[in-house]
Amino acid sequence: MFNSIAVSTVLYASHVWSHHYLLLIEQIQTAFIKRLFLLERQVANYAIRIETGCLPLEFNVIKQTLNFVIRILSQEGRIAKLIFKALVTSSENDKDKYNWTLNFKSILTRGNASHLWKCFDAGEFITAKAGILETITVELKNKDIQRASESLKYNYCVELTDLNRLISIKNCSINRIRIVAQTRMNYSKFRYKDKSHVLNIDESCCFCNINTNEDLFHFLFECTIHNTSRNIFISKFTNANRDNFQKILLNITTEDVLKIFNYVVCSLQRRSVFLNLMNY
Ligand SMILES: [Zn+2]
Repeated sequence: MFNSIAVSTVLYASHVWSHHYLLLIEQIQTAFIKRLFLLERQVANYAIRIETGCLPLEFNVIKQTLNFVIRILSQEGRIAKLIFKALVTSSENDKDKYNWTLNFKSILTRGNASHLWKCFDAGEFITAKAGILETITVELKNKDIQRASESLKYNYCVELTDLNRLISIKNCSINRIRIVAQTRMNYSKFRYKDKSHVLNIDESCCFCNINTNEDLFHFLFECTIHNTSRNIFISKFTNANRDNFQKILLNITTEDVLKIFNYVVCSLQRRSVFLNLMNY
């Protein structure tokens, strides 16, 4: 529904106007996904795209641009084709960023098709289109993976495949998937039933006597006040440690999603009760 209504509206004629506003446009997709999973605004956009298997909206703009040029070049003798040729010719000495054809030139370069610059045969572009789009798809995906691999917080994303992405979790309610999404990406913040829960990651946990900060690992696998819930719901993950727990949470079945959901919700509720008692 997002693609058919929101994306098609936002990207209307985007092949003409949007090449200088791609970063701005990108926020529309990532903001939507963050709202869907109740994630924090600070969650990295590349992590969102890897978890959901989405390409940046830039890809749609590139595809529309190629189709637009093919349409122009198919119309022999029409004024649009004459203008296109004139702009391509003048771009030789033209550093004007508003010469639209320079955007097209950049797409050809990225798509390993520089040899098609100054080609005015629509047939050549129809033949090359799939290859150009495939090359740019790989480039965009690699860019996100590269950024994830350099991140301390989201380097688990490098391990994601089509089998264990967030978007691959099937037969689960949106509330359950949201909790898993927040566990993976929000790191220390949860939102459930309109209530926010923030772990005190910078302070020693006040609920147990382990004397360590209440970070996500502590909350999930260490804090003794959640031992009962832990034994009931997530005893399967007993080999989790600080270095591997994010990766362990990737290979989960539908049944595991329910267990993680139950553990997190029960533990957050217990935590809230304790906090309320301590405030009295
Ligand atoms: Zn604790």
